[in-house]
Amino acid sequence: MSSTQVGIDLGGTAAKSGRITHTGEILAEKTIDPGFADGPERVLDRLADLFRELGGGDALGIGVPGLLDRERGIVLTSPNLPGFSGLDVKSGLARRTGLPPERVHVENDANAAAVGELWLGAGRGERDALVVTLGTGIGGGLILNGQLHAGEGLGGEIGHVVVDPRGPRCGCGKLGCVEALSSATAARRRALAAGLPAEHPGDLVLLAQRARDGHAPERELMREIGRDLGRGLGPALCLLDLRLYIFGGGFSGALDTLEAGIREGIEERSFGGRAASVRLLRATLGPSAGWIGAARVAIAAG
Ligand SMILES: [Zn+2]
Repeated sequence: MSSTQVGIDLGGTAAKSGRITHTGEILAEKTIDPGFADGPERVLDRLADLFRELGGGDALGIGVPGLLDRERGIVLTSPNLPGFSGLDVKSGLARRTGLPPERVHVENDANAAAVGELWLGAGRGERDALVVTLGTGIGGGLILNGQLHAGEGLGGEIGHVVVDPRGPRCGCGKLGCVEALSSATAARRRALAAGLPAEHPGDLVLLAQRARDGHAPERELMREIGRDLGRGLGPALCLLDLRLYIFGGGFSGALDTLEAGIREGIEERSFGGRAASVRLLRATLGPSAGWIGAARVAIAAG
């Protein structure tokens, strides 16, 4: 029997969603403005409307940025979603959609994107991978033996691996996290410090292109940013012998310019000369990875 699921990827400015069968056939897709200014209860109303507009399904998965109680479907803290810290998303959506609570699954957005990429994207057919979302922050989702490994919620959080204890302060409060050194935000800060133009987010695309074209300052900048990212990935190679790293998010378009640095950083923080065998891939689902993965997680949970 064929079953269909709805997945939602809830971000601060957009809720991307879709309906998909358990075999991965996409039936509908839709993006809405969640309207956070109207308060969290109205946001949940709109998400339930979205579920119905897409045609409904046997289960609903939702990816949200932040720390979660995944079991109970409660958002513990979410700096990017106003009013959502402490919100019981699972019950709120179950009540509004008429689905039993066990068929509503709340997942961290980076974890959801990882599940999506392993199911239908760049990691299709793979068993083990770390999917890194390079955006304004850095998220991560760890898949081991075909299963999401999130632990109590912190699993795969590559963005907060400290690589330079004397480095810049991260949003989490620590110094020198990968996120504080290699996110798109950090890349722009480092570019400006190097005297390169990076006032606007779109400027990173131009910087990457100049690096590709062989301009030395941009090449060196991207290499350094990549090296710090690689220094964060090295421990994953040591601890898990993880060989596949998939990069999504807006800044992943610069992966080719970061790659040499990433490999240097991995080599520096691992041993056995294995860094050369590591595969670095671009994610292929783009902004759809989150909702597709959220739907997949709901299938697995239901
Ligand atoms: Zn941090």
